[in-house]
Formats: sequence, C-alpha cells, structure tokens
Amino acid sequence: MTVPNSRRAATAFGVACVAALSLVASAAAATPEAALDDALARSPITNPARNVILFIGDGMGVSTVTATRILAGQRAGVDGASYDLAFDQMPYGGLVRTYSTDALVTDSANGASAITTGHRTINGGIGVDGGARRGVCDPSRNVPTFAQRAKRELGKAVGVVSTAAVTDASPAAFFAHVPDRNWQSDADLPPAAREAGCVDIAAQLIGAPEDQRPDLVLGGGLSFFRPATAGGRRQDGQDLTAAWAARPGSVFVSDRDGLAAAVAAGQDVLGLFADVHIPHELNRPTTAPQIPTLEEMTRAAIARLAAEPQGYVLLIEAAHIDKAHHAGLINAALTEAIEFSKAVAVAREMTDPADTLILVTADHSHGLVLNGGGRGDDVLGLIKGPTGAPRLAADGRPLPILTYATGPGGPRDGEGRPSLEGVDVTAPDHVRQAGVLSPSAAHAGEDVPAYAQGPGAYLVTGSMDQPYLFQVMRHALRLPAKAP
Ligand SMILES: [Zn+2]
Repeated sequence: MTVPNSRRAATAFGVACVAALSLVASAAAATPEAALDDALARSPITNPARNVILFIGDGMGVSTVTATRILAGQRAGVDGASYDLAFDQMPYGGLVRTYSTDALVTDSANGASAITTGHRTINGGIGVDGGARRGVCDPSRNVPTFAQRAKRELGKAVGVVSTAAVTDASPAAFFAHVPDRNWQSDADLPPAAREAGCVDIAAQLIGAPEDQRPDLVLGGGLSFFRPATAGGRRQDGQDLTAAWAARPGSVFVSDRDGLAAAVAAGQDVLGLFADVHIPHELNRPTTAPQIPTLEEMTRAAIARLAAEPQGYVLLIEAAHIDKAHHAGLINAALTEAIEFSKAVAVAREMTDPADTLILVTADHSHGLVLNGGGRGDDVLGLIKGPTGAPRLAADGRPLPILTYATGPGGPRDGEGRPSLEGVDVTAPDHVRQAGVLSPSAAHAGEDVPAYAQGPGAYLVTGSMDQPYLFQVMRHALRLPAKAP
C-alpha cells in the first residue's frame, strides 16, 4: 500500500474506511507445513520504520489469548483451538517479563510506562524512572516517552486510542509524567503535589508543548477535562476540551459522526466518547449507539495519521480485557479481546509491513486458568463427562472450563464453591468462579506474549524484558539511544 502523501488524499480514504464497519477477527491457522514454508521464506526487515503502532491488550496474558482464540473461532462457527487471532498471524514474537521496581506483579501504569519509556518504575508510576516514589511530586524523575521523542526529534505525528479514559494508566503512558496514576484531573491532585509544581494528567495532555503533544486522542474520560460547573470533575474551572479546540486545525468531538467529520477534514482531533470509560462491547446495543468501537477508532486513527508527511506513532489499548477480568466477567473480558483482535486486523490491513512496525503485547497478565473441556465444547461453559452432563470435580460440583485464581466469584467464608445448578455460566453478567475470594481479581505476574511485524519486528524474540520493547521501537525509528 502506498502511504498517501497529501492530507487530501488520505481524507477521502479516511471517510471510506470509517464507513466500513465490519471485518472478521481472523481465520483458520496455516497447516504446519505451510507455517514452516512461511518461516523459511521470511527475512528480517531491517530498514527504518516510517510508522510504529503499539497495541496493548490490557491484562491479556497467554491464557487470555488462548481462551479468546477458542471463543473467536467458536463464534465464527469453526473449531476454536485451531483458529487464528489477527496477531497469531504475525511473523515474530516472544515472551515479556513484567515486574515493577517494587513488586513481582505490575500494574498497568508501570507495565505500559516500561514499554513507552524504556524505564521500569514503581507500580502507579507513569513516565517516571525507577527512583520515583508513589505520590511524591519530583519532576526530576520524569523520562521522555517514545511518542514525545518521535515527535520532537523526527516530526512524527502522535496518536492515542483507548477504550478507557484517555487519562487512564496505559494511554497516559504515551504522554504523561506522574508518580501516581490517580492524578487524572486537578481534583485528584493532592495539594502538596500541586504546590511542588505537578500537573494532572488531563492538563498535561492539553498543555503539552507543540513539539510533543498528541495529534489525535480517542477514548473516554470527558469528566477529567470538564469543569464541575459543566458536569465534570475539574475544580479549576477550566474546560480543557475548549482549550484543545482553540488551537489551529484542532477539533473536539464526542460522537461517531463527529469523529468521521474530523477525519474527513484532516483535523487534530480530541474525541472523548464517555465520561470515564467506554462501555463494554457486550453493553453496546442498548447503551452506546454513537460511541465508536475500538475497531472504528483504529480505522479513523490510521486514516487520519497516514496523511502525516513524516509518519506517525500510535498507541491502541483495549482496556476492558483487564477491567472485565477484575470483575470476574469472563464473557465481557474475552469479547473485548476479540474486539482487540479486530483492531489489530484493521491495522494490518491498512498499513504496509515494509514501512510500519506493529507490536502487539500486554502490560501484565491476569489469573485466568483453562481447566479442561472437549474440543467442541463452549469455552464459556462447563467441563462435560462422557454422557454430556457436567463432570463433577472432587467437591461434587461442576467445574467451568475457565476459572480465575482470585476474584469476586471466589468462595465465601465457610462455604464451598457454589453448585452452579441452574446458573447460565455463559451469560454476559455471570461472575466466573475463582479459587480465592477477592473483590477484584488480581493481576498475574507471569510473562506476557509479544507479537510483531514490519521493520525491526525480528528483534521481538525469545525472553524479553519489558523496557526492551522501548528499545525495539526506538531502533525501528532510528532514534538515538539518548534524547538530545
Ligand atoms: Zn488491572
């Protein structure tokens, strides 16, 4: 595909792409023989990348990928285990270690920030180095993000897309510097931090210097940008959406039609489609007809940014894989992961692997376990015995194919597991059983997968440290090791 070199060329392209809504998640896997032929024919792409797209599936550990693949195949009416998600078809990959400076198990802040800055930090820290202390304002700990460097040193445009509030930990890791991920609006900033010169995440996004600020930001989080007098959280009276729109060539939009118009006009666009997070896909038909899907936002972002003369860097996060896992909502979590795969498919379709590095990974894992089940069985259902009735575990109760290690579906004090009799375990609002009761399912600390294609993708291999992914992206763009 030729990258359009004028904004007008990409404008028409953008309208067409935003209008095209559906795409299959992916397809059946290649035979082992064909996979070997592909591997033998493969040669590393060593030229510099024009564009880099970083996909973060929040909480998308290996077991989530496996379960999502099976569910996606089953929903497509074919065998799930042998199905391919979009990133299953990418040529390179490996495993990534995800700890923080203070914990074996990372949160999204450190996990995403390690990838975007090359510095591991404390849990809760974003865009700061390993010397930061949680909640202590110390701007000397700030480290530039990959996106800030790409724009300042190479003139790349910057895009951020998330199904969370754009001030949430993972999207903020592209543009913000805070020792506490909760500082999303001025109302969330402790007085001591304000006095020490720290600024909230929303204000950092809008107030960034021209040579560092994102050109496109799509997701939720409107309340962090609006004053309390207009229904938002801000106490400083500022409407940051108006401040964004006041810049030349910039527009604020809040619905799907507005986004399509902004892309068609080639504008710098802040699109905030929900007060906090965009709803789960499973809720969309009744709650969110004008909220774009992750796939639509991905199409719009690439269509808009492809017009940029120096190329672009783009972060796309699927936030609800993690948020639904926390709530034990297994159907919602895996549905969000299928949506993530659709977004990756769109990026693969709209870009050229000769000039665009696509990196797909997770910030951390979740404690999801695949316990058993027959090849044709609904992966959201129960393990069955030879008669087709649920097979009973040693406690005399049926065992779901998928359970959580911890979570709100854990056994209450003094009680065993619920019997599940009469329970529709595939329902969207079903809270999946967990081994140990916890109000929110815990992240898990094992390695997460990474998948890559395009220039520099061959460097994504083996056992990697999370900050190494920053180095791969930096090298792909030929940014020097040290910022000037
Ligand atoms: Zn989480």
